[in-house]
Amino acid sequence: MLEQGNISIHTENIFPIIKKWLYSDHEIFLRELVSNAVDAIQKLKMVSNSDEFSGEIGDPEIVITIDPENKTLAVSDNGIGMTADEVKKYINQVAFSSAEEFVEKYKASADQQIIGHFGLGFYSSFMVAKQVTIDTLSYKADSQAVNWSCDGSTEFKLSEGDRSTRGTTVTLALQDEEHEYAEPYRIRQLIKTYCDFLPIPIKLEVIEPPKEGEEAKAPEQINRQKAPWKESPKSLSQEDYLEFYRYLYPFQEEPLLWVHLNTDHPFVVQGILYFPKLKPDVDVSKGQIKLFCNQVFVSENCEEVIPKFLLPLRGVVDSADIPLNVSRSFLQNDRTVRRIADYIAKKVGDRLKELYRDDRAQYIRSWQDLGTFVKFGSINDDKFKKQVEDILIYRTTSNLSDDIPKVEVQTADGDAWEDTSNAVSNTVDGKSYTTLKEYLERNKERHENRIFYCTDEVTQATYVQLHTSQGLEVLFMDSFIDSHFVSFLEREYSQVQFSRVDAELDDTLIDKEQAEIVDPKTNQTRSEQVKELFQKALNKPKLIIRTEALKGDDPANMPPAMVLLPEQLRRMQEMNALLQQQNIQFPEEHILLVNTTHPMIQNLINLSQGAIVTKGQSPSAELADMICHHVYDLALMAQKGFDADGMKAFVERSNQVLTKLTDRAAH
Ligand code: ADP
Repeated sequence: MLEQGNISIHTENIFPIIKKWLYSDHEIFLRELVSNAVDAIQKLKMVSNSDEFSGEIGDPEIVITIDPENKTLAVSDNGIGMTADEVKKYINQVAFSSAEEFVEKYKASADQQIIGHFGLGFYSSFMVAKQVTIDTLSYKADSQAVNWSCDGSTEFKLSEGDRSTRGTTVTLALQDEEHEYAEPYRIRQLIKTYCDFLPIPIKLEVIEPPKEGEEAKAPEQINRQKAPWKESPKSLSQEDYLEFYRYLYPFQEEPLLWVHLNTDHPFVVQGILYFPKLKPDVDVSKGQIKLFCNQVFVSENCEEVIPKFLLPLRGVVDSADIPLNVSRSFLQNDRTVRRIADYIAKKVGDRLKELYRDDRAQYIRSWQDLGTFVKFGSINDDKFKKQVEDILIYRTTSNLSDDIPKVEVQTADGDAWEDTSNAVSNTVDGKSYTTLKEYLERNKERHENRIFYCTDEVTQATYVQLHTSQGLEVLFMDSFIDSHFVSFLEREYSQVQFSRVDAELDDTLIDKEQAEIVDPKTNQTRSEQVKELFQKALNKPKLIIRTEALKGDDPANMPPAMVLLPEQLRRMQEMNALLQQQNIQFPEEHILLVNTTHPMIQNLINLSQGAIVTKGQSPSAELADMICHHVYDLALMAQKGFDADGMKAFVERSNQVLTKLTDRAAH
């Protein structure tokens, strides 16, 4: 037999669920009641624009009255009010909201948004109240005041009320375990959290027994009311933005720059996002942007709405188009949410490009922090990468301060002169910055499609200097994100070879012409002698000793030796460390490149040859041996720090070498 019908829901069963479980946080009841009050006032404003209402709106306000003694809390508004029929329709029927009907009828303008949606907010008051009473008087002519009350069961009482002014008061008799909501500090805290930026003054009135000699205090406003993100960017000054930042994040360093989001098509999003100065210990996976819906605070982070790479940004995002009562994973897959995320990324990219174009000096000064966002974003988001690739800059060893493009201006009488007034300098505080494109273009004759870079200015200083002394331009890729970023760039620019300055020496740095002198005594070349000397002295099977003549005007100014880490080897090492979550160990297998043209190395050969003449255990041989170790240690030092044992040995040997040398000099 086929039977059809409607599934019935018993209010007695569903009501406790709505009351207790709809919202896990009890405190949000206040947000819901205040939102309803704001809506009631906004609705009155909308009605007043039609011919239905000709009365005075007066000064809109919401008053929260608490009675710590009697444990009650009331939210009162001077909004639209309700007739008995409306109470029956909107309050007695759970999940019946008037919001959509209203917006449809009165065509809300952009600044008159209605917060309500689901027709459930009011019932959240039963999470904290044992009894809820509504006293309301509608704006409609000849309305009768209405009193409604309910103790949380499915029964209610509706009767004529005695309210004489237009609006609604919802009074809660608090449950025993919820008395905190009759305390002034708690209400201030909740309003500051959830309702600070609602556009209507919210006042707090505390009912206290009058103190002798003191007048009763007038209710004081406890919300900030102004939401700068709702204002037009043109109407806000630099100081307004900074002031708002300080308000949101007190005692923090000033932000670097900000982006004002403001669109109402195809979705509505407003907000202000700030780029903070990044601290090295910042947790980039934790969002700090506050999410609002029609100026009501929703959550402290909006990780699902903000593209991951922008999570360290701060500020507010306000959108009624982000579905709120859904799970986070649903949110991530929501099409509108994804489009909002794309929109935010695009706006941020635009703002950065604008700064690059209009205030290069400021851009460069902020690059340390901005660069991290831009690089992280480029790795994570292809669209963003395309947007910002031409404004990704790197500090360079080249001095580009003279590189300001000259603009020829033709005057009426035909004279031409140079006008650099609009020219942009890529040098700030003596440091020059370049894009990869510019670098490749500048160096294409010398080394096409090859980029030299260094990852640590201090430890790799010798290598950088070696390159620059031969006129090679080196880029600094030394921020904490750069180790990942270089691999990313290598994939992106597959035709370009990225050479770390300490990986391998370019041919231009080596003097291949240097004639090799053959020593008639040993029948060996200088290179062979040096190699043999170091191999014997250091005696490390995994260490590769290589000899080269480094180019340089003054050999004494060139390093006597350098440690090179072949690219492949270094990467494997880094990868292993990453996989095993260990710190990168310095690889045992590496190259010691000894510079045969350095005078000290030449002396060392002579010293060791003195040892050959006097056969074996001579003081010279011992000294030569020690110096080999020392040269190696000094070269290593440019790559890594020593551990305690290494340092101790180094210092001890230094003293021994110096003793021996002074000994020799003195005798
Ligand atoms: P929502 O706010 O999502 O519409 P609620 O359950 O909070 O749902 O409220 C249901 C309806 O009750 C509202 O749509 C509105 O019509 C009416 N209402 C609630 N509070 C007030 C108030 N303070 N003034 C006038 N009407 C109200």
